[in-house]
Amino acid sequence: MRPFTYERVDSATAAIAAFGAGAVGAASERQYLAGGTTLIDLMKLDVMRPQTVIDINALDRTALGRVETNDQGLRLGALAHMSEVADHPVIKRDYPMIAQSLELAASPQIRNMATLGGNVLQRTRCPYFRDVSYAECNKRIPGSGCAALDGFNRSHAVLGVSDACIATYPGDFGQALIALDAMVELRGRNGDRKLPFGALHRPPGGNPEIETALLPGEIITGFAIAAAPWLRRSLYLKIRDRQSYEFALASAAIALDMGKNQIVQEVRIALGGVASVPWRARSAERALQGRRLNEQTARAAADTAFADANPHEHNLFKVGLGKRTLVRALLQAATMEL
Ligand SMILES: Cc1cc2nc3c(=O)[nH]c(=O)nc-3n(C[C@H](O)[C@H](O)[C@H](O)COP(=O)(O)OP(=O)(O)OC[C@H]3O[C@@H](n4cnc5c(N)ncnc54)[C@H](O)[C@@H]3O)c2cc1C
Ligand code: SF4
Repeated sequence: MRPFTYERVDSATAAIAAFGAGAVGAASERQYLAGGTTLIDLMKLDVMRPQTVIDINALDRTALGRVETNDQGLRLGALAHMSEVADHPVIKRDYPMIAQSLELAASPQIRNMATLGGNVLQRTRCPYFRDVSYAECNKRIPGSGCAALDGFNRSHAVLGVSDACIATYPGDFGQALIALDAMVELRGRNGDRKLPFGALHRPPGGNPEIETALLPGEIITGFAIAAAPWLRRSLYLKIRDRQSYEFALASAAIALDMGKNQIVQEVRIALGGVASVPWRARSAERALQGRRLNEQTARAAADTAFADANPHEHNLFKVGLGKRTLVRALLQAATMEL
C-alpha cells in the first residue's frame, strides 16, 4: 500500500474545504473515507491511489447519520450503516425492498462497517479492473483498452454496456433507490443540491473512468424516498452463485400497486447484476401498466426489459437468467400478503 496522508474532519464544511478543487470522483488524489470497505480494499490492491484520505465518520453525529421516517416518506443519512437500515423495523415493514437489498448484500461484518453513501459509490468487481497486472482497462487507465471484451466475461453486464467497458455495477441498494425514484442529497463548494438517484451514475460510453455526476469534493449527505402506494408491496430478489456473501448474477427490485383482479395500477422495476449502472426497466413497467399481472404478461415484460441486451462470449446466460429473475420477482410481489 502506498503512503498517504490521513485527515479527520468533524463537519461537512471542513470536509469540503479539505478536499479542495481538483479531479472528481475515483480519479481524485483525495478521497473521503466512510466505512472503508471499498476504498481501503482498492488502495491495498493499488487500484486507487489517493494521496490524502479524509475521514468523514465524525459527521455521523449530524443529519448524515440519521434515519427518519414519517407520513411524507423516508430520509436516510449517507453515513447510516447498511446493517442499521436493514434491521430498522419501520423500513422492514413499509419499505421491504430497501431492507432486503441491504440485508442480502455482503456479510454482517461488512454491513456493520459500510455506509449507504459508500455503498452507492462502490466500484465494479471486474477482475481486470481490480488486478493492476492487466494493462488493458479503460476504467483504470483511460484509453488502454478493455481486457474483458475478449477475456473471461461471465460476470459482466449485458445492459448499458459500450465498446469501451462492459463492467457490471455490483451494488444492490442502488436498485432499490432507482426503482423508488429516490433523490440523492449533495453538499459541495457551491452549497446543497438534489439529484434524482437515476442521474447519479453514468453509463460507460467512451469514458468509463467517469462513473458519477458528482462534482469535485461533493459529499452525499442523504437519500429521500417519498411515500407512495406501491412501497409496502415491494421486494428485492437476488440470484447469485452461492446463497450468501456474494454479488448478484441477476436481481430484480419490484414495487407494485395492484388494483382489483390483479390489474397493475403502478409498477416500479429495477434490475441488478446485469447492467453497467443501477438499471430502471421502464419499458417493462409500461408493458405491465393497466394489465393483469400473470405469468404470461410478466414474461412479455421481461422480454421487453432485455430487448436491447448486448451479451458477450461468457455472459449470454444472464439474458435468460435476468428474465427469469424478473418474472419470479413480479409474481412473488403480486402474491405478497400485506
Ligand atoms: C467481500 C465484499 C462483499 C461485498 N458484497 C456486496 C454485495 O453483495 N452487495 C453490495 O451491494 N455490496 C457489496 N459489497 C460492497 C460494500 O457494500 C461496499 O464496499 C460498501 O457499501 C461501501 O461503503 P463504505 O462506507 O465502506 O465506503 P468507503 O469504502 O468508505 O467509500 C467508497 C467510496 O465512496 C466515497 N464516499 C463514501 N462516502 C461518501 C459520501 N458520503 N459522499 C461522497 N463520497 C463518499 C469514498 O471516497 C470512496 O471513494 C461487498 C464488499 C466486500 C468487501
Ligand atoms: S470491463 Fe471495464 S472495468 Fe473491466 S477491463 Fe473492461 S474497461 Fe476495465
